[in-house]
Amino acid sequence: MTAAVPRQKDLLQIRGMTADDIVAILDAAGRWTGASGAADTLTGRTVVNLFLEPSTRTRVSFEIAAGRLGAMVVNIAATSSSIVKGESLVDTARTLDAMRPDAIVVRHPSAGAPAIVARHTKASVVNAGDGAHEHPTQALLDALTIRGRFGRLDGLRVAIVGDIVHSRVARSNAQLLTTMGSDVVFCGPRSLMPEAMVSIVEGGPGRLTPASSIEEAVDGADVVMMLRVQHERQQAAFVPSLGEYKSRFRLDAARLERAKPEAIVMHPGPVNRGVEMTPEVADGPQSVILEQVANGVAVRMAVLEMLIGGN
Ligand code: ASP
Repeated sequence: MTAAVPRQKDLLQIRGMTADDIVAILDAAGRWTGASGAADTLTGRTVVNLFLEPSTRTRVSFEIAAGRLGAMVVNIAATSSSIVKGESLVDTARTLDAMRPDAIVVRHPSAGAPAIVARHTKASVVNAGDGAHEHPTQALLDALTIRGRFGRLDGLRVAIVGDIVHSRVARSNAQLLTTMGSDVVFCGPRSLMPEAMVSIVEGGPGRLTPASSIEEAVDGADVVMMLRVQHERQQAAFVPSLGEYKSRFRLDAARLERAKPEAIVMHPGPVNRGVEMTPEVADGPQSVILEQVANGVAVRMAVLEMLIGGN
C-alpha cells in the first residue's frame, strides 16, 4: 500500500517548487484551457478574495475560476473592509478563519502578508501578489502560455525588461523559468535593477544574467516579457524621465526584430500604453497578452482544485 501524499496547504511562492510540482499544475491547468463550461469539483467550498491592493484581472480571474468550479466566492476589497478601521492583518485572518472558508486568496502591498494570513487560518492561502515579493499564479499562467506556444519550458531564452526591482512578476517568473531550464536575461534602468539579481532566485539549471541594453536582452530571445513601470512602488528619484525610459526601454517593432522570428511578446498587465511597448507591438501578431489572461483562469482553476478540491 502506498502512503497518502500529504496535501499542500498553501501556494505562497514559486521559490521552493520543483520542476515536477510546476509541471503537475500546468498539466492540470491544461485541462481547463479554453474551457468556459462549469464543473462541480468545488461545490460547497467557500473562497474568500482578500484584495488589499488594486487589481482587476487577478481578482476577476480567481473569481471566475472558483465560480466555474462551483465554489461560493466572497470578495473583500481594501476600501470596504475593517482594514480601513485599523484592524490588523492577523485579526482579519483570525476573523475570516472563524467563518471557516476553504481558501483565502490574498493580494497585499507588503511582501510576506499571505504567509502571515496562512499562519493564522486553517484555510488554504493563495498568494495573489505580495508587494515586490512573488506572484506565483502569474508565473504559472505565463509558463502555461509559453509552453502552449513552444511545447516546452527548457532551453528557451526569455528577456524580462523593465522595472525589475519592484516586480513580483519578474521574481516569480525568473524562479520558475530557471527551475525549468530556460535562461532569463534581465534588463531595465540601473535604478530599477536589484543589485544582486541572482540572489532573488534559488537557481536551477537555467542561467540568470543581466543585460545592459534592451537590444542585448532581446537579441535572439524566444520570449520578450515587458513589465509595467510600477509608479505606486517608486520614490520619484528612482525613475528616469518617461521620455528617457521610452527611448531606452520601450519595445517597438525595430527592437522586436532582434528576437527570434517566432518570438512572443508578453505583459502581465495592466499595460501603460505607449510606455512599455508601442501599440503596434502590444496589439501585433506576436503579442500573447490576451492569451495570458485566458490562461490565468485555467491556472487558477487548477490551483484551487489542487488545494481545496476532493475530500
Ligand atoms: N498585475 C501584475 C501584478 O499585480 C503586474 C503589475 O501590476 O504590474 O504584479
